[in-house]
Amino acid sequence: MSILVLGGAGYIGSHAVYQLVDQNFRVVVIDNLQTGHREAVHPKANFYEGDIRDRVFMRSVFERETIDGILHFAANSLVGESMTEPLKYFDNNVYGTQIVLEMMKEFGVKHIVFSSTAAVYGEQMVMPITEAADKNPTNTYGETKLTMEKMMSWCEKAFDLKYVSLRYFNVAGARGDGQIGEDHNPETHLIPVVLEAALGKRPAVTVFGEDYDTEDGTCVRDYIHVEDLIAAHLLALKYLQNGGGSNVFNLGSNQGFSVKEIIETAKQVTGIEFSVVMGERRSGDPSTLIASSEKAKHVLGWNPSRTSIREIIRDAWNWHQHHPNGYQK
Ligand code: UDP
Repeated sequence: MSILVLGGAGYIGSHAVYQLVDQNFRVVVIDNLQTGHREAVHPKANFYEGDIRDRVFMRSVFERETIDGILHFAANSLVGESMTEPLKYFDNNVYGTQIVLEMMKEFGVKHIVFSSTAAVYGEQMVMPITEAADKNPTNTYGETKLTMEKMMSWCEKAFDLKYVSLRYFNVAGARGDGQIGEDHNPETHLIPVVLEAALGKRPAVTVFGEDYDTEDGTCVRDYIHVEDLIAAHLLALKYLQNGGGSNVFNLGSNQGFSVKEIIETAKQVTGIEFSVVMGERRSGDPSTLIASSEKAKHVLGWNPSRTSIREIIRDAWNWHQHHPNGYQK
């Protein structure tokens, strides 16, 4: 069985490739290395460097390889950047997905598991958020992911395609053996930013707003270990292969942690006191996002086992300590 991983050199995609190899799948990776790293691609994967928006390149890969299913991680994913560069997000995320869907149609590939996001929901009054909640993205990133979901749904009606859309809450942590981990440049995600401060690589962590309507005034998020997250992708592939219909699942831990709680836990796990400063709100941030993942547990049989905030931070810290400068450039 041969699986194509789009964005397989990125943080989440590279963890998917490693788990697929662990489970003896044949893996083909496409990545343009815009934010991914050559070194993060598993040596056993068949790697093609190129852009999913490049129809000629994509066709050449689909002609050479027999693809039984696709995991699609190739996208830009920064909330802040999506607010200042919205067209970059529509181009890479939405147009890129259009080409992927064209290839699936042309080459008769039936199954795709797709990374969506909690950002499709926007501000919600009721926690935890179920898949049935209204979708009102407050940022361009979430809007593009919602559009990508809709594209798949319309394509499903038009031709023979089945998709699973996985709406991630906040993904963090690293593979337990520390071989691969999170390395963005610039880094903007809270947990790696905090760990960079612990390593002395940045002078302080800035808390983006402490006047939200939450217990301590800082934003609350639901953190999920990247290895648990990927386990759900493999279950989703199996679900489609067993004849499951197109579906949408939240992936989170059903627990919320504030920015201040994450900072405190990171201080305990690392044993390092680093500086924290209070800053302005970041544009596009909802105050609270907490998942209900009951549907994924029930339908996919997902059983996240590494999702305690301490374990997430410990595994991320293991990666950061051993790779203080990330991957070799
Ligand atoms: N955050 C923060 N300081 C930082 C980075 C993030 O206070 O340097 C906050 C951010 O406003 C959000 C939470 O941490 O409330 C998680 O942000 P992240 O960018 O990690 O993920 P997002 O929720 O945007 O997907």
